[in-house]
Amino acid sequence: GSTVGVLGGGQLGRMMALAGSNLGYRFVTLDPTPESPCGQVARQIVAGYGDRAAAQELAAQADVITYEFENVDADVAALLEEQSYVPQGSRLLYTTQHRLREKAAIEAAGVPVAPYEQIHNEEGLRGAASRLGLPAVLKTATGGYDGKGQWVIRSEAEIAEAYATLIQAGTELVLEQFIPFEKELSVIAARSPRGEIRTFPVAENIHIDNILHASIVPARIGSGVQAEAEKLASRIAESLGAVGLLAVEMFLTGDGRLYVNELAPRPHNSGHYTMEANATSQFEQHVRAICNLPLGDPALRTPVVMVNVLGEHLQAVEQAVSTGQWGERVPSAAGNRVIPKVHLYGKQGSAPKRKMGHVNLLCSDVQDGLDFIQQTNIWRNQQL
Ligand code: ATP
Ligand code: MG
Ligand code: MG
Repeated sequence: GSTVGVLGGGQLGRMMALAGSNLGYRFVTLDPTPESPCGQVARQIVAGYGDRAAAQELAAQADVITYEFENVDADVAALLEEQSYVPQGSRLLYTTQHRLREKAAIEAAGVPVAPYEQIHNEEGLRGAASRLGLPAVLKTATGGYDGKGQWVIRSEAEIAEAYATLIQAGTELVLEQFIPFEKELSVIAARSPRGEIRTFPVAENIHIDNILHASIVPARIGSGVQAEAEKLASRIAESLGAVGLLAVEMFLTGDGRLYVNELAPRPHNSGHYTMEANATSQFEQHVRAICNLPLGDPALRTPVVMVNVLGEHLQAVEQAVSTGQWGERVPSAAGNRVIPKVHLYGKQGSAPKRKMGHVNLLCSDVQDGLDFIQQTNIWRNQQL
């Protein structure tokens, strides 16, 4: 069988390797941390992501190369493209690594984004803030995640401090109009080199402290919005000529408008629900896409709520598993059965806010999954 090389050995690479193994592929990952989550289930080259010799070794060992994070160094991407087969190409990475390029690409696909301006200096920020209106969100153009590298400016008095703080990151800045969204949604699209596109059902995402807490599927939105959200995601994947997965984060406003927030050219935390809830998981779909296999059926088989297991939740989740408290089926508050499927990533070193795993709560109605989360006390005080 062929070997798939994965740049990055985190949980996304691990779940990719687990799913891809079932299709007969072997996996090799490149990651600086020994015994990385992916390295525990695949071969691992232990080296930094920017190590050219290691990248060359990955290229030599793999027939196909993919990545599990988007901040791949451009030189390394070029080297891998030259020495192996990188079906996703480096163009998609280049676009999604930078918020301004990404927004331009989304607009070019005819899809709305929040009104924004590039910021060159503090005076420029003042001007943009008065044109776009406050509140507005100042973001670093590159490198941000989990809300790091951004500042919600609520009054003119905050402008100087916001600018001085974010400019330290040393990247370009962008100011976005604050969208008073009713819900945050995401759609994961898959596109194969032969141009086939499939989308997974819309996830409704709940963030706490800018970190994904839960994804609810089906999203509690009308069928028209669902169809529109999937259409926008397909249109972006098509327009970008994406290969593999493209996760599309969106805002839904009270008057039914959708704005795309950002993209990720890889499996996404908000797609973890697909592991048990769908006929094909996002990880299998990604492997199918990059290996140019026909795409799988993305249909939802059951309502599901995915809840993340952060460092502060890990012990209690492990205990619920080991004591059998989360046996096959657990009654929810309403007395309906919920099936908790636990996924732990095997990361060394648990820390607060660090993603250590997730639980897919298979249920007959998403409200039962949400009630289950409140009932367990593990995620207590977190209002949904
Ligand atoms: P991720 O971990 O998803 O990559 P990130 O650091 O790249 O996050 P964004 O997704 O751009 O950051 O923003 C984080 C969160 O901040 C969003 O999920 C949303 O809740 C809020 N947010 C960002 N931009 C806006 C906006 N223009 N209007 C309203 N809320 C926003
Ligand atoms: Mg992001
Ligand atoms: Mg985001």
